[in-house]
Amino acid sequence: MAFEVTPLPYADDALAPAISAETLSYHHGKHHKAYIDKTNAAIKGSDHADKSLEEIIAAARGSDQGLFNNAAQSWNHGFYWHSLNGEGGSPTDELKSMIDDAFGSTDELIKNLQERGAGHFASGWVWLAEKGGKLSIEETHDGDTLADKDGVNPLLVIDLWEHAYYLDHQNARPAYLKAVTEGKLNWGFAAENLSRGSTWSYPS
Ligand code: MN
Repeated sequence: MAFEVTPLPYADDALAPAISAETLSYHHGKHHKAYIDKTNAAIKGSDHADKSLEEIIAAARGSDQGLFNNAAQSWNHGFYWHSLNGEGGSPTDELKSMIDDAFGSTDELIKNLQERGAGHFASGWVWLAEKGGKLSIEETHDGDTLADKDGVNPLLVIDLWEHAYYLDHQNARPAYLKAVTEGKLNWGFAAENLSRGSTWSYPS
């Protein structure tokens, strides 16, 4: 099968000014699309042609770095679009109580995400994840992903690559992280991932 760029679940100006429509048009329309196109080209006619994106990532990890990078980046971006929204709000119910248990408060979680994201060296991703009934912040480098990690359920992710913020915040990654984490995280998506209890699947 061929994968497609997942449609943005909101208008392209819904995240402004944290993330402008111009950034989204490049990031979604060019960067994500390039990862998808390269994944599709690599799997066409191969043993991977009928696999899910998660199965391709797991199969390519450690054996085909080129395919792994493109497949994992395809997945991470699909997950990232859903991790954001322009509706504001805050965590509730089970998610809220697990955040309080792990971090003390939602504000402390947000502070931790900002610090870990700002401190991450070079390109990568910062995640909120659930492991064994406990929430934690995880980091992956470059195109690496939590999509195929056993026992880890990713709840939210923030893209730390410069292409995610350079047009809006230039080199100020902390300003991007502050703008995204203070009002643009999709807590409903995090709660869905938590209650499902298994990792989100890329549409196929
Ligand atoms: Mn990106």
